[in-house]
Amino acid sequence: MKILVINCGSSSLKYQLFEMHHRKVMAKGIVERIGERGSRLVVEIPSVSNSKIVEEIKNIKQAANLVIRVLTDKEIGSVRSIKEISAVGHRIVHGGSQFSHPVIVDTAVKRGIELLADLAPLHNVAALEGINAFERVLPEKRQVVAFDTSFHQTIPKKAYLYSIPYRYYERYGIRKYGFHGLSHKYVAQRAAELLGRDLIKLKLITCHLGSGASVTAVDKGKSIDTSMGFTPLEGLTMGTRSGDIDPSIISFLVEKEAMPLERVKEFLNKECGVLGVSGISSDFRDLESLAKKGDSRAILALDVFVYDVKRYISAYIGILNGIDALVFTAGIGENSSTIRQQICENMTYLGLEVDAKKNKCTNGNECRISTSRSKPIFVIPTNEELMIALETQEAIRTMEESFA
Ligand code: ADP
Repeated sequence: MKILVINCGSSSLKYQLFEMHHRKVMAKGIVERIGERGSRLVVEIPSVSNSKIVEEIKNIKQAANLVIRVLTDKEIGSVRSIKEISAVGHRIVHGGSQFSHPVIVDTAVKRGIELLADLAPLHNVAALEGINAFERVLPEKRQVVAFDTSFHQTIPKKAYLYSIPYRYYERYGIRKYGFHGLSHKYVAQRAAELLGRDLIKLKLITCHLGSGASVTAVDKGKSIDTSMGFTPLEGLTMGTRSGDIDPSIISFLVEKEAMPLERVKEFLNKECGVLGVSGISSDFRDLESLAKKGDSRAILALDVFVYDVKRYISAYIGILNGIDALVFTAGIGENSSTIRQQICENMTYLGLEVDAKKNKCTNGNECRISTSRSKPIFVIPTNEELMIALETQEAIRTMEESFA
């Protein structure tokens, strides 16, 4: 079975074609700058060096056409005909409270995603355009949607409700939704596979540490709490996002700095986090190299980040009443030995200890980085696209079984 995975942004379309039996990527690429000058498709084909196709791509429909043309191309294509592709899986950022599983697209599903656009305006609208485009270019194929929020739909109400008047939860759906769900789910499943144990019996904490970052408590395979909230702004200090702050700071700044209210969102999303604290960079590689040279603000920004991750891990060990394994993933989690080491420092009382030699793991490798007396600590490169492909396969299987 071959599944095409699509991730549509407002000006880009990423795709990967999977051969599901071996979970192998047959082709991948990105259409960039859709609707802008210099739009192009960059194709990555294993065993062939990257190739670039530069042409005018005005909209997502044209981008979809181009992707299919390239996938079936005689020279650089990966399939002889589109008949070989069984289904298309789309990534959707926000599924609200409505979508707790991947589903096969129909009119009602599209309407549901459209109604949720209020919660994720840029993302959900672009994803819908992607679905419509692939419905047109591959009308015979099943389209499935997989949501970043679905994995967190098992979080109990006491953990997802904010203590504001209940009517706002009822009226606007203001609650914790959580994000990076496809990533947390993927690495939790991989951790169970690496341990050779059933996920249903495990208490895991997964740390997705990239430019956006979140920590999730996974009990018996289900997310029971996560650090991101109503939007991906809550939780950990991130590259440019503030994470948790006292809400009063906003009204204080609005008054003191004469900051227009419409600027607040941009300020909290783009000017805070480790960029705000360091005043230098949101990139952890820059901060680490400056910290090594003794730059005090870079050291401070990294300290704030590390402290936050420790705070969430510690809280979730308490909520889970223990931990069977800790997992690091995404750009920082997969590559920064220093940050992983610092996060796990002084955590022996919680049963966690990093082995300095094993912790050298980087570059997309799966490693167990804990000492022999520690609970397992893993580095597991995330693979959200494969997760979408697996969810697409699962949604189709469930539907076929219901008809059988
Ligand atoms: P996103 O997909 O959210 O953009 P990524 O998962 O790609 O994020 O992570 C990006 C972050 O990972 C950047 O902040 C970058 O600094 C960090 N990163 C990547 N490689 C390294 C490394 N070798 N050491 C430290 N940080 C790294």
